[in-house]
Amino acid sequence: MKNFQKFISVPIVMGAFGVLAWLENRRPLRRSVESKIIRHGRNFAVAGIAAAALQLAEQPVARLLSKLVERKNFGLLKIIRLPKWLETILAVALMDYTLYIWHVLTHKIPFLWRFHLVHHIDLDLDASTALRFHFGELLISVAWRSAQILVIGVSPSSFAAWQLFLFPSVLFHHSNVRLPVKLEKQLNRFVVTPHLHGIHHSILLDETDSNWSSGLTVWDWLHGTLKADIPQSEITVGVPAYQNPNEVTLAKILPLPFEKQKVDWQLFKTRRPDNHLP
Ligand SMILES: [Zn+2]
Repeated sequence: MKNFQKFISVPIVMGAFGVLAWLENRRPLRRSVESKIIRHGRNFAVAGIAAAALQLAEQPVARLLSKLVERKNFGLLKIIRLPKWLETILAVALMDYTLYIWHVLTHKIPFLWRFHLVHHIDLDLDASTALRFHFGELLISVAWRSAQILVIGVSPSSFAAWQLFLFPSVLFHHSNVRLPVKLEKQLNRFVVTPHLHGIHHSILLDETDSNWSSGLTVWDWLHGTLKADIPQSEITVGVPAYQNPNEVTLAKILPLPFEKQKVDWQLFKTRRPDNHLP
């Protein structure tokens, strides 16, 4: 599974990105604010550094700890001997749930928000936003990922299965693809859709504080944080204090977590900006 995953994850991400980019052109969900070429260049630059951080920090640590789990029967899922298929399904579900918790923490703990902010101040939302995470956020999340693996008891093959589920899911729900209404309603009962995640990227704090799931929507549903009834035409993407394109250039967003922070949400906690009143 590990070799299979190594072999397949890059083509899967690139293939999914290509298909989504094609669909984004054909069936856009939201109107774009910035030029696509400039945004994509910026997002790919952030993504390149992020990918290096993943390869150098998260992957080796995850590999080491998941092997330890397998060898020493460490963690919740190793307490009882489960059939392999059931252990894998439970591991993917529990990784998904604990990623939900991590996502909430990245918004609620000011030190973590400094880094997650870089992802949220993209003025548009498409598949390239899915790759745009500050390397600092990814490096810090290695500690959380380690705890996830050790507490849940995630074996190397379960970890690979979770990544194979997570990567296409994250690309999909960040994409700017309008799904047929019926399909959207059927899908969002189970998995996060572009419509749901668009609400999480809204400029309104009330809306950002919803739809935290990264894979299955059941976690938002259980926590009462699922919001599906906001039309995308009403949503302004971003964070209120960073609506000026000059403030979200590559040179500005990379050092952002290490600088004095602005009061992000003061302007529009529950009220839409005037130009977007329904
Ligand atoms: Zn977020």
